[in-house]
Amino acid sequence: MTGAAGRPARPSVRVRVPGKVNVTLAVGERRPDGYHDLSTVFMAVDLHDTVLVRPAERMSVTVRGRGEGRVPLDEDNLAVRAARLIAKETGRERAAEIRIDKSIPVAGGMAGGSADAAATLVACNELWGLGLSYEELRLLAAQLGSDVAFPLLGGVGLGTGRGECLTQLPEAGAGAFHWVFAVAEDGLSTPEVFREHDRLQELREVPPPAGEQERAATVAAVVRALRGGDARALARIAERGNDLQPAALSLRPELRRTLRLGRQAGALAALLSGSGPTCAFLAESAGAAAGLARVLSASGSCREALATTGPVPGCLSAG
Ligand code: ATP
Repeated sequence: MTGAAGRPARPSVRVRVPGKVNVTLAVGERRPDGYHDLSTVFMAVDLHDTVLVRPAERMSVTVRGRGEGRVPLDEDNLAVRAARLIAKETGRERAAEIRIDKSIPVAGGMAGGSADAAATLVACNELWGLGLSYEELRLLAAQLGSDVAFPLLGGVGLGTGRGECLTQLPEAGAGAFHWVFAVAEDGLSTPEVFREHDRLQELREVPPPAGEQERAATVAAVVRALRGGDARALARIAERGNDLQPAALSLRPELRRTLRLGRQAGALAALLSGSGPTCAFLAESAGAAAGLARVLSASGSCREALATTGPVPGCLSAG
């Protein structure tokens, strides 16, 4: 991988990157490699991390903002892994100082670490004048994790395979849907939620995975709702569309209360975001979302409740 030659390198590059909610998340059987075949509709939402990179003698990362104390500052940080990968794949000995400003909840099922990795790929591509195309960045992203490719383009995407095979879906327009996210006190580990899902499936305490036709029908229904900007139709699908929800609720039964409070306060849909524990609520309007966020914040059932919108563009265009 070489990229276009001759681009001037830059003194520093700042990239904004959105978090995501899984509008639907169908989980297939566990594969021999340990992963699950997924069919998931991602929507990028207006909760952004910012990644700033500068040339440096050695790789380093600092993190400030929401959940800062819970993000690793060593080689485990996904942004550091992204910077190392893009340097290695382009055959250069380079390092960067990486500064992350976090708004996306940590370990909240909103793919914050993946978002930071995607932003770092885009930022280092600019910083070092590598000229890699979207397709080249997408391939690097897929090596880093299932959720890393989506935030590059953002919007609404269908993820298959482990989630890394992406198809962009048509949208009703930026900010067409109103969401509230209730952020939990502590995070949940995605691998742990998958393990619990496997355990419940062995015990037949969750339904068997949806077949091809059922998955295709769900995606078609999501596309219709997105095209029409129809929040009620989207809510009907999202409310029962997350196969990881039973496992996450089994690990964190107290989240049932948060979901119930949101429904009682008028949410069109109440679901877990990805593997949780962040609870996601779809609201009728900006006003309804603000009201819902107030009720949830005051309930003491979550650390904070954030009203926002989606879809929004990904970090290749978010500037
Ligand atoms: P996903 O939905 O992609 O499974 P998540 O949103 O539940 O992930 P993240 O915020 O990505 O969770 O964090 C998962 C774990 O990844 C955290 O517990 C943290 O230790 C680690 N991590 C590594 N790098 C980062 C980063 N840059 N930002 C946040 N977490 C990171």
